[in-house]
Amino acid sequence: MVSYKELGLVNTREMFAKAIKGGYAIPAFNFNNMEQLQAIIKAAAETKSPVILQVSKGARNYANQTLLRYMAQGAVEYAKELGWEKPQIVLHLDHGDSFELCKSCVDFGFSSVMIDASSLPYEENIALTKKVVEYAHQYDVTVEAELGVLAGVEDEVASAVSHYTKPEEVVDFATRTGCDSLAISIGTSHGAYKFTPEQCTRDPKTGKLVPPPLAFDVLDAVMEQLPGFPIVLHGSSSVPQEYVDMINSLGGKLPDAIGIPEEQLRKAAKSAVCKINIDSDSRLAFTAAVRKVLTEKPGEFDPRKYCGVARDFMEELYKHKIIDVLGSDGKA
Ligand SMILES: [Zn+2]
Repeated sequence: MVSYKELGLVNTREMFAKAIKGGYAIPAFNFNNMEQLQAIIKAAAETKSPVILQVSKGARNYANQTLLRYMAQGAVEYAKELGWEKPQIVLHLDHGDSFELCKSCVDFGFSSVMIDASSLPYEENIALTKKVVEYAHQYDVTVEAELGVLAGVEDEVASAVSHYTKPEEVVDFATRTGCDSLAISIGTSHGAYKFTPEQCTRDPKTGKLVPPPLAFDVLDAVMEQLPGFPIVLHGSSSVPQEYVDMINSLGGKLPDAIGIPEEQLRKAAKSAVCKINIDSDSRLAFTAAVRKVLTEKPGEFDPRKYCGVARDFMEELYKHKIIDVLGSDGKA
């Protein structure tokens, strides 16, 4: 048993309370490798933004859970080396799907876990979430739960259709489970293809898809039911078209990849939405950079040369999200 406190990590409780009061949101960035983690920590340290490092099932399969945890521990020390005296870094399990997995993360030094039982019937979602909360709270680890179903594919979390969160359920759910934050479904979606062309209109000038707006009426109704309660948005990459275009112009094939417009995320960040998950955008930045370097310099074979540029692209992206979209700069 290792407490996250010994590792210099923090849970989300105070962070979220401040974010709701201050009208901003905390970035939750997924990490799978060293370059991504370096870029996240540099961006957070230089902007003095609290940050949530997320580990998904796909990341655990790719990079090994033990290694990722030690990398996060190293990230705290790296942040200090960068001059961030008291780093505000959360290590969070993304989409935990069982009590055993959540328990193993709590025991291993994670400061926050998500139990995603949203695909189960309502009462079973409550029972499993409550069990995780009761365990995690003994160690002051915070718990994110989910109500409603997001569409899209994120690692191994997939659903063809979304079901908006029912505002009439949230008080009962939050009260009976004791969860610390709630992921809701208001039209965000996992992956780089958040909407089908049928769900969108098409801009006649650019030929690009224009996505349907988020269901802010559902968000408002949830906030009315649970005033001041931390709300989480998953699947909130904006799929920057500059990267999509760069990838496509350099031999890639991402037709009609679109995300959530940043102005809608900015609007959400000013409300009780205090954690916004961004994953696909950094994948796109990484891929665009690698394609660019290898196209411009076909003779390059040193991975540090293209992964280094990918790291720079991701750092710039993370800073942009922190400063221009979530407003969390200067809050840590
Ligand atoms: Zn998610």
